[in-house]
Formats: sequence, structure tokens, C-alpha cells
Amino acid sequence: MNHLTESRPIYDVVIIGGGPAGLTAGIYAARAGFKALLIRGASTVSQITATDRIENYPGIVGGIAGFELVENFINQARQFGLEITDYDVTRITKAPSGDLPGWEIAADGKTYRTLSLIAATGANWRKLGVPGEESFIGRGVSFCATCDGPFYRGLEVAVIGGGDTAIQEALFLTNFARKVTVIHRRDRLRATAILRDRAQKNAKIEFLWDSVVEEIRGDKMVGGLLVKNLKTGSLTELPAEGVFIFVGLNPNTELLKGIVDLDKSGYILTDQDMKTSAAGIFAAGDCIRKTLRQVVTACGDGATAAFSAQHYVEALKGESY
Ligand code: NAP
Repeated sequence: MNHLTESRPIYDVVIIGGGPAGLTAGIYAARAGFKALLIRGASTVSQITATDRIENYPGIVGGIAGFELVENFINQARQFGLEITDYDVTRITKAPSGDLPGWEIAADGKTYRTLSLIAATGANWRKLGVPGEESFIGRGVSFCATCDGPFYRGLEVAVIGGGDTAIQEALFLTNFARKVTVIHRRDRLRATAILRDRAQKNAKIEFLWDSVVEEIRGDKMVGGLLVKNLKTGSLTELPAEGVFIFVGLNPNTELLKGIVDLDKSGYILTDQDMKTSAAGIFAAGDCIRKTLRQVVTACGDGATAAFSAQHYVEALKGESY
């Protein structure tokens, strides 16, 4: 059967992921006149929607809330005709469309056929793996300051981690909490200088250096943390009503295992055109191996992935310029 006569619609490109990378790919693909579908996770949201303010996205002076920027991307993509649907993708399989190679994506009992695929599946918060972390989620343990910060008005909270996310969110939490203790396993922050300086000047923020959390303790709700100093080995209990954990990311690439090449941490390997090791699959954003994970780089990846997918599909259909 020829791809043009198959009964189900065959997309030129299906994009998995509704963050800045996926939505930018969607804007470019739909604007190029491609039959394009974006599948957003039904049970996961892009990390950027949980980010209080983005100050370094060019052209937006004064910053913008993460969810607002994503809403703008969605409205812009829809204006160009991008279809967007909310399902959790469960399987990706090779599925030729007639005489053309292609992929089938299963999500919530439905399947979608496509000639090309862009994985923009992002990354998820890494966990500490200490006692109390899982059992107190929603009862004092949080991975989202924007969502939960206002519950801690006038209280003491701890932030775990020393990267950009930890420091940015610690600063945000000072809008509510009486005191924010940043617990970091080393004696200096990984975060960029501008965030470091702001945090060090903020009277509400204290630092516990060379320290790790051994246990999160409490009764019905979190009451404190058992903290170990890695230099002295001493254990102390830090009172805290909230614990915000920002110790990095794990890529959401389970679905792609065995289909495209991943590095040892699970990030998708791409070339500069966002091509993966599988023909017809491109990848963009936080799920790929790269040095700088920012909204602006995710958008750049998404645009490149869409452009590469466009060329790939045009070549398949014999329509290349
Ligand atoms: P990250 O840069 O990987 O930092 C993770 C932090 O957690 C590090 O300080 C790390 O310590 C610590 N850590 C890791 N595992 C730990 C463990 N088991 N126990 C205790 N501490 C642990 O992650 P991120 O801060 O989430 O940032 C992710 C990416 O997003 C980065 O590329 C970042 O630049 C970017 N980002 C940028 C902005 C911005 O520009 N405004 C904001 C947010 C995020 P070590 O330092 O010892 O490794």
C-alpha cells in the first residue's frame, strides 16, 4: 500500500514533549506546512512550567513566568496549525508506511503513524534516595518551589543542591519562608555567579557546606533533617518544615532505549543537526547530551530538529529541493 492511500492519517512529524524544545519544533514544523502532531505527557509537565521566572530568555525584558512563556509557545504553535494532544506515550516501534519507512507511537490505547519523530521528552528531577524522601512527598518534601513555596509562609525550609535550580528556587522561597537553609555537599556553589551573589547577599539564606541529608524526619509532616558533615562526619538535626530537593536531572528517555543510542547517563546522542542514530528520529532539548540546558538552547535544538525532520521527510517523499 502506498503511504498516500493508507486509511489512518500519517503525520510528517510527531513531536513527543510539550516543553520549549517540543513546542519550538512544533512551531517550525507546522509553519513549514507539515502535518504535525505534538504529544504532551498527560501525567508529566515540562519543568519550565514550574519555574518561577525566566530572566535570560532574549527579548523579554524583566523576565516572564515559566507557565506564561509555555502558554505563549502553545498559542503561537496552534496559530500555525499544530495539533496538540495530551497522552503519555507508552511505546515507539518501527512501522513502515507503505513503501516509506516510518514509526508508530502508542499512547493511551491509540496509535499514531509518522514518517519522522522528534523526541523532546525533557528530564525529571533526580531524587536523593534517603529515608523519608518518598514518604513525605506532598507533606513537606517538594520538587517545585513555584507550586509549594506559598505554603511555607513564615516557616523554615531547606533547599538541597548547589546548582542553578537550587539557588534560583532558594531565592524564590525567601518570598515566603522565614529562613532558607541551602545544604550543599561541597564548599562552593555550582550555580552561576549572578545567582550565587544574590543568594549570598540575601539575609534569609544560610548555607550548610560540605553537608548531605541522611534522613528526612517528621511525624505527619516534615519536622527536620538529619544532616551529616562530610568533612567531620558529625550528625546534626536541622529543624525544617519544608525540604525542596534540586539535585539535578534524569533524562526521560526510557521509551527510546534500544531504539536510539544513549550515553551512559541516558541522554540521547545527537549530531549537530539533532539526528539520532535511528533514521527518521531527531531529538531536542534537555533529553539530549549537551553542555547548556536553557530555554533558549532547547528552542534552538527544537528549531534545528524540525528543519532536519523536514528535509528528511521531503527526501523520503522525493520532494527535496
Ligand atoms: P545541576 O547543575 O546538575 O546541579 C545539581 C546540584 O545538585 C549540584 O550542585 C550537585 O552537586 C548536587 N547534587 C547532585 N546529586 C546530589 C546528591 N545525591 N546529593 C546532594 N547533592 C547532589 O542541576 P540543576 O541545578 O537542576 O540544573 C540543571 C540544568 O539546568 C543546568 O544546566 C543548569 O545550568 C540549568 N538551569 C539554569 C538556570 C538559569 O540559567 N537561570 C536555572 C535552572 C537550571 P555538585 O555541585 O557537587 O555536583
